Amino acid sequence: ARAAAGAAPATPGALADGTAIALLANLGKPGDAADAVARGAEGVGLFRTEFLFLSSAQAPTIQQQREAYIELLRPFEGRKVVVRMLDAGADKPLAFLNDAHEENPALGLRGLRALRASEDILREQLTALAEADAATAADLWVMAPMVTTVEETAYFTALAREYGLKTAGVMVEVPASALLADRVLAHADFASIGTNDLTQYTMAADRLLGSVASFQDPWHPAVLRLVREVGDAGARTGKPVGICGEAAADPLLAVVLVGLGATSLSMAPAALADVRRSLSQHSLDDARRIAAAAADADDAAAARAAAQAAAQI
Ligand code: PEP
Ligand code: MG
Repeated sequence: ARAAAGAAPATPGALADGTAIALLANLGKPGDAADAVARGAEGVGLFRTEFLFLSSAQAPTIQQQREAYIELLRPFEGRKVVVRMLDAGADKPLAFLNDAHEENPALGLRGLRALRASEDILREQLTALAEADAATAADLWVMAPMVTTVEETAYFTALAREYGLKTAGVMVEVPASALLADRVLAHADFASIGTNDLTQYTMAADRLLGSVASFQDPWHPAVLRLVREVGDAGARTGKPVGICGEAAADPLLAVVLVGLGATSLSMAPAALADVRRSLSQHSLDDARRIAAAAADADDAAAARAAAQAAAQI
């Protein structure tokens, strides 16, 4: 990226003791960037590139992509923008990447698995991102969705580096990669936890299915303990661990996630103000105590109640 020339002021997130917790935006189209900036987002923690192409029958061209990425990056001069590679499959099928005939698409060829099976599409996306990076002054980070293994992590980060993309990481959305987070982080520059899918796969409950919706609760201590695995691995390796699932938008759960080791939180821009206020009311020691109370509970409701009680002390 070119040198930054300055951008509209962000409103940094911080705990009561001054510990910085970057507050970032989840975006699905470049046109939403202005709203995120106006709400004080420090950058973008998750840009869902597949949203641009949900109705496309054919893979987008490099030029189409480059234009969209430049439009996204331009308002964030000097700030971090995490772009996720096409996350195709299950709840976000792309006609040009997915086989419509899988019986269990959430367990199928989706995310990085699908990209790897169509590596030319992955390479074109990296080419477009590298070109957009060279044309703008944002701090571009790239990440792969639905990464399950250490080998997949090494594959993606090596490929991103081939294209000169300096900061490459993975989403942790599968228990396998959360449990091996220290090994994953040996190959990645950062991890970003997708709590929507991490909850789905931990609880074995389809996130789209109303009949099992009660299982889809990121307050569940099983999910929180997996987040702690990743947070601990981040602390040990000195690498950033972000959260980009909907859980980060819950003001009290945001405090818990920070207590479990998250170093940044990304959310729908409308949630930024409430989360910023909530973080400012607790020190890091408080957040760790509140998180421990939640992670020691039996179920999601008890975890929420335990965190609420601990936050009053
Ligand atoms: C997630 O799974 O938490 C996530 C952020 O990705 P998506 O919701 O787009 O699957
Ligand atoms: Mg996901």
